[in-house]
Amino acid sequence: MTAEGKLREDIVRLSKSLFDRGFSVGSAGNISAAVDDGILMTPTNSCLGFLDPARLSKLDRNGNHISGDKPSKEVFLHRAFYETRPQTGAVVHLHSTFATALSCLTGIDPSDCIPPLTPYVVMRVGAVKLLSYVKPGDEKMGDMIRELAGRYAAVLLANHGPVVTGRDIATAVYAAEELEETAKLLILLKEAPKRMLSDENVHELKAVFGAY
Ligand code: ZN
Repeated sequence: MTAEGKLREDIVRLSKSLFDRGFSVGSAGNISAAVDDGILMTPTNSCLGFLDPARLSKLDRNGNHISGDKPSKEVFLHRAFYETRPQTGAVVHLHSTFATALSCLTGIDPSDCIPPLTPYVVMRVGAVKLLSYVKPGDEKMGDMIRELAGRYAAVLLANHGPVVTGRDIATAVYAAEELEETAKLLILLKEAPKRMLSDENVHELKAVFGAY
């Protein structure tokens, strides 16, 4: 099997895994991964649980649709990350429940909206930037990601959901799951006095495990 053929299978398998465990419902969410000559992307209105490897959308490096079904209308979110973070191998966008719940709260820190409650969110995701609400499909969202100039590996779209990147498809999916689980803990513990990781704890994690 070619490298692209293997990647197509991986996208379908990991997307189904997210769908089967409720990280995505209906036709919500979209996933992309980089190939030598462009990106593979889940098609518009597709369900992550029932993808066909042969029908994934393929776009060239300039964003032109070259094969497969029509790409998701949120493709520009993905392209903005590939353009500004060259280490990006895959992008996962979900409307997962707890991260989306957090994205609707007022009074959260827009430059670190998933604060370091456990080590794994620091190791797998890093700081998450909250981006202002714009309607789905609005290309302004891509511009807002470009304005971050690659400083964040993940963002949370206000009243919408997370966009998480990784070096490869598995890393990006695991990071999206970690973000969702941390958001769940934050919501569960919302009213309780919490012991967060200290700045020193976070520096230690970055020094030992590196920052993506
Ligand atoms: Zn969306």
